[in-house]
Amino acid sequence: MAHLDASTIAVAVKSLKDAADIAKVLVGLRDAAQIKTKVIDLQSAILTAQSDALSAQHEQMVLLQQVRELQAEVAGLKQQLSSRGNLPEALICPMCRNELRVTAEHDDSTFAFAGVKVHSVACAKCSYTGDRRYRPGKGYS
Ligand SMILES: [Zn+2]
Repeated sequence: MAHLDASTIAVAVKSLKDAADIAKVLVGLRDAAQIKTKVIDLQSAILTAQSDALSAQHEQMVLLQQVRELQAEVAGLKQQLSSRGNLPEALICPMCRNELRVTAEHDDSTFAFAGVKVHSVACAKCSYTGDRRYRPGKGYS
């Protein structure tokens, strides 16, 4: 994760201002040797400004990418929440909160006489599996 760093843009703006300042001095010069020196300074300042602008642009792209990823994550979570409705807690994956699927039903080994069942559940998202005690008509316990 890149840090939000406004100074990258500030550095690029300052580099451009430095280049502009050199250009202003250059316009006022008459001496050929001085002009040559200032042109070299100006080229160097422009290269620095270009490099700083690229850094700022790269950082902005990274941040935009993070915004897109977070937006997708929020949309996914919203969809999970709305599709879940009144799903019992027993059918929500304890690892990733995805909806669990009942993959098998067995009689409970201890309470089968009372009609208690065991539901094997599985998460399609994180491959969590587990068992839930189920009483027909009463739900999970
Ligand atoms: Zn899961």
